[in-house]
Amino acid sequence: MSEGDNAYYIDESGHLTGDGVSQCAEFMLVKNTPNGELTSAVNDHIENCELCRNRVIELYEIIRDEPAVLNRIKENYQQKGNDTPSHRRLRSGKGWINLTAAAIFLAIIIIAAYYIFTNPNPQKIFSEHFNPYPNIITTKSDQHDELTQAMLYYDVHDYDSAAVMLEEVLVDDRTNVKAMFYLGNCYLAMSQSQKALHWFKTILESESTELFLPSKWYLALAYIKQDKIDKAKPLLKDLGESKGSYREKAKRILERIP
Ligand SMILES: [Zn+2]
Repeated sequence: MSEGDNAYYIDESGHLTGDGVSQCAEFMLVKNTPNGELTSAVNDHIENCELCRNRVIELYEIIRDEPAVLNRIKENYQQKGNDTPSHRRLRSGKGWINLTAAAIFLAIIIIAAYYIFTNPNPQKIFSEHFNPYPNIITTKSDQHDELTQAMLYYDVHDYDSAAVMLEEVLVDDRTNVKAMFYLGNCYLAMSQSQKALHWFKTILESESTELFLPSKWYLALAYIKQDKIDKAKPLLKDLGESKGSYREKAKRILERIP
């Protein structure tokens, strides 16, 4: 790729064009790196601009999960000795068949790009980010109380049984924050986001607990699961400004939801 292609890949404001983004995503798929054969201007920009880097990564993740598009890209590279991107082939004019194939390919990329930039796809964000909070109760306690027993089920991912027992713990002890927190996690793991958010909200109303930030994170995820992006956003903004381990994750999600 020559430096003369820069106008094709970088727009007037200095960011990557849609073509630039799809080109980088293609390189990641075929060479497993966004660098390699890209022009130095594109390389430099990807290295320095988090916004464009995320655009490339998002497109990469979409294409990676689409076998038809992936095969199309791999064929293109095989036919052209592994180094020529599809739209250059288009311009070198090897005939109408190549031209049509390249046009269809670009159309798919543009549609995919349009789709991901206009649709935040909350279910995908949820499944990428939800992991049940690790059990830090059993390891710290050798008591055989109801909570500890519930957490044995939690540990083996039997969230149904764990939830039944945690509900019982809360009948006896209505202010047990740990029980609420893990119960919320159980419900999220079972895709019962409405019940999950009830418990995370209850914790956040009580305020003084080490589970405050984690509860905020899981409440945001519960809203995302429900497609309620507007309710998740302020929570993610708080987390993005916090010093906790959720800071970077929250910021990354915010970049994906307009
Ligand atoms: Zn940029």
